[in-house]
Amino acid sequence: MNIHHKTVQIREHLMMMQRELEARLARIEAERVERNAPDNDKWSDQGSLHERDDEQMALQLAAQGELNQVKGALVRFDAGQYGLCSVCGEEIEAGRLEALPFATRCKTHAV
Ligand SMILES: [Zn+2]
Repeated sequence: MNIHHKTVQIREHLMMMQRELEARLARIEAERVERNAPDNDKWSDQGSLHERDDEQMALQLAAQGELNQVKGALVRFDAGQYGLCSVCGEEIEAGRLEALPFATRCKTHAV
C-alpha cells in the first residue's frame, strides 16, 4: 500500500468519525429538547430528570471533546502536519495512529 493511499484512508476515517460524532451530538440535543418539552412526561418514570441531564451532559461533553480532536486532526491533515508529533516533529508511530487517529504526539511525548 503506498503512502498516498494510506493517507486518503486516514482522512476518510477521520471524516467518518466526524460525521458519527455530529450525528451523536444531534441525537443527544434532540433528546434533550424533547425531554424538556412542557407537555412531555414520558421521561418522568425513568429516573430523575436531573440525573438524566447529568448523564446526557457527560455524554455530550465527551462527544464534543472527541469531535474537536477529530476536527483538529483534519486541519492538521490539510496543512500537511498530520501524523507528526507536536513536541519533537517526528512521525507518530503507525500503530498509535491506527488506535488513535487524532493523536498529536508520538509515544515518547504522549501525555
Ligand atoms: Zn515526540
